[in-house]
Amino acid sequence: MKVIDHIRQAKDSLISFEILPPLKGKTINSIYEHLDPLMEFKPAFINVTYHRSEHVFKKKADGTFEKVEVRKRPGTVGICAALMNHYRVDAVPHLICGGFNKRETEDALIDLHFIGVDNVLVLRGDAAKNETVFEPEPGGNSYALDLMKQVVNLNNGVYLEEDIRDGFRTNFCIGVAGYPEKHFEAPNLQTDLAFLKAKVAAGADYVVTQMFFDNQKYFDFVKRCRENGITIPIIPGLKPITSKKQLSVIPRTFHVDIPDDLSNEIINCKTDADVEKVGTEWLLLQSKELKKAGVPVLHYYTLGKPKVIYNAVKQLL
Ligand code: FAD
Repeated sequence: MKVIDHIRQAKDSLISFEILPPLKGKTINSIYEHLDPLMEFKPAFINVTYHRSEHVFKKKADGTFEKVEVRKRPGTVGICAALMNHYRVDAVPHLICGGFNKRETEDALIDLHFIGVDNVLVLRGDAAKNETVFEPEPGGNSYALDLMKQVVNLNNGVYLEEDIRDGFRTNFCIGVAGYPEKHFEAPNLQTDLAFLKAKVAAGADYVVTQMFFDNQKYFDFVKRCRENGITIPIIPGLKPITSKKQLSVIPRTFHVDIPDDLSNEIINCKTDADVEKVGTEWLLLQSKELKKAGVPVLHYYTLGKPKVIYNAVKQLL
């Protein structure tokens, strides 16, 4: 079922989770162990991230180095199929521009359609670790907007090859990313919103936001979106803080602020268990306020910390 239909039919805020494929070498059971407790909350859908390959230098027998491409977390499409089969839940694979040409993207979309996936979250992806700025793949999409257009084309039966125009049609519901604290490359929020509006005009069904730790940032963002004519549902993305290290890692990685009150509480924690307790309480407070405000979905980034999310959501419902 499409995410947008889940939202239309819901009487209250829905719950959804986002997971990462396991590191190469781990089994699908590591995903089930991660998700089993969270399934108690009957998530409407589960997102599965996509990760581009990285270039690494591998030492050869003769002592010289060769550049090889490694994808550390493959398996997004397979995990979606496994989740739908194992839990009977809707899976939302992320699709990224980086590292894929349009032909490979089209093949992935056809695979997803054949395994019964109804949804995709369309993203540009970040720069590869060895790049300073994002470089599209030769023959690939440059922005999420371009990838969106490719999905919309396939939904209309338009393939890359001219000769199979009007083949079978996919019917994907399309989500896109939004940034309450603006995307770090955008010169300002207004410009970022103009690009978000272009994704909506091209056919996005809903937005999922980057994580934020101050709900006011989400409320302000939704207001600005509405003022700019973006009327589709805006799903808040939520992540708990679970270690002191994250106080610097999260702002550096995701370009979001951590409010003073929260950072002070975490700095004063004596043990990891104390940090988790503060992280859980903060997440619960955020969730309660958002639910009260009638957000369409509470979308949790589980990123290896399902227990904290479990404890917060358990107290919420
Ligand atoms: P875009 O919408 O393409 O925007 C990228 C930047 O370009 C922005 O600054 C925007 O303002 C600007 N821009 C947009 N269009 C144009 C244009 N036509 N001309 C000039 N500038 C333009 N990354 C992964 O690798 N895998 C994942 O699974 C993943 N999941 C994510 C899930 C969510 C909910 C979020 C919020 C992010 C996720 N990311 C993921 C990270 C995401 O790929 C990065 O934030 C990336 O840098 C931007 O992606 P985007 O889709 O927002 O890009």
